[in-house]
Amino acid sequence: MERVIDWYIDHHRDFPFRNDPDPYHIWISEIMLQQTRMETVLPYYERFIAELPDVKALAQVSDDRLLKLWEGLGYYSRARNLKKAAVIIMEQHNGRIPESYDALLKLPGIGEYTAGAVASIAFHQPVPVVDGNVLRVWSRFYGSFRDVLDNDVRKEVRTSLEKEILSKSLDAGLFNQGLMELGETVCLPKGELLCKACPLKDGCTAFREGYADRLPVRKTPEKKTVVKLTVFILKCKDKTAVVKRSGKDVLKGLYGYPVTEGHLTEEEVRRELASNHLDAERILRLAEKKHVFTHRIWEMKAYLCEVQPVSGGACFGGDPLIFAADRELSEVYALPSAFRKWDV
Ligand code: SF4
Repeated sequence: MERVIDWYIDHHRDFPFRNDPDPYHIWISEIMLQQTRMETVLPYYERFIAELPDVKALAQVSDDRLLKLWEGLGYYSRARNLKKAAVIIMEQHNGRIPESYDALLKLPGIGEYTAGAVASIAFHQPVPVVDGNVLRVWSRFYGSFRDVLDNDVRKEVRTSLEKEILSKSLDAGLFNQGLMELGETVCLPKGELLCKACPLKDGCTAFREGYADRLPVRKTPEKKTVVKLTVFILKCKDKTAVVKRSGKDVLKGLYGYPVTEGHLTEEEVRRELASNHLDAERILRLAEKKHVFTHRIWEMKAYLCEVQPVSGGACFGGDPLIFAADRELSEVYALPSAFRKWDV
């Protein structure tokens, strides 16, 4: 993979922040390049640097002016974090951008990618960067069909690149930029790959085996099942009814309000109550709420129903109703958060 360094030196596109060792310039350009293409960033970058040439100027700029300079790039929190970080650099680092990856990572708006880029490009620290371009090149080079959206896989890629940098004493700045540039201009995400012009083709597994266009693998997260429910919050004087849930879902065995599947109208609610031998004095529709579980989403329509006292044991859908006072609700029948969405 180290061949990418010589290739980068000879073939990289020229941008003002390339070959510029100034950490401030590298930091600003890397933040601007997040979610934005190089060509788009260029005029913004030049205007920004002309008006705010160093950390001190950035720390002192007014918020209005900062946002004006950022206007058009979107994701304005990036600009706000730049200023917050500049203030911290002035106050805690004597105005000098810290050199170490770990210290950079502590600054607002600087994540693993930016910390790696600034530490390696500006300060030649032996740390890798892992972005979409790098993941694509890495997956194809090693012929990996593992899911690049998986955090464990990203960590492994990081470790593998770190080993490559350390074991061969590579200039991490050039190596990282080389991989990113290769991903942007040669090892393209779609369409025709330019493998024949790639400096890594001799060692590239996916090129040799002929499946580069099938990589990298990105598994879309499993779609959650949406379940529509009607929730009955039954009040009788100062008590509220709960049931011990007997169904098959994740809340089985816990206490909750009675529910039925589907979204019922007020008339249907009244009929449902009657079929459970409950007589409603008043029915009040409450706000609809949603609760997201690991594999499903409950979309809940809720009704507050004031019911007449019932003699003997009342049931709802076959489950015994327990009318509990507020104190019991908090101490004995603690409701799962899916049911604690209404202030009743
Ligand atoms: S040979 Fe082709 S698939 Fe392999 S790294 Fe180069 S451009 Fe990507």
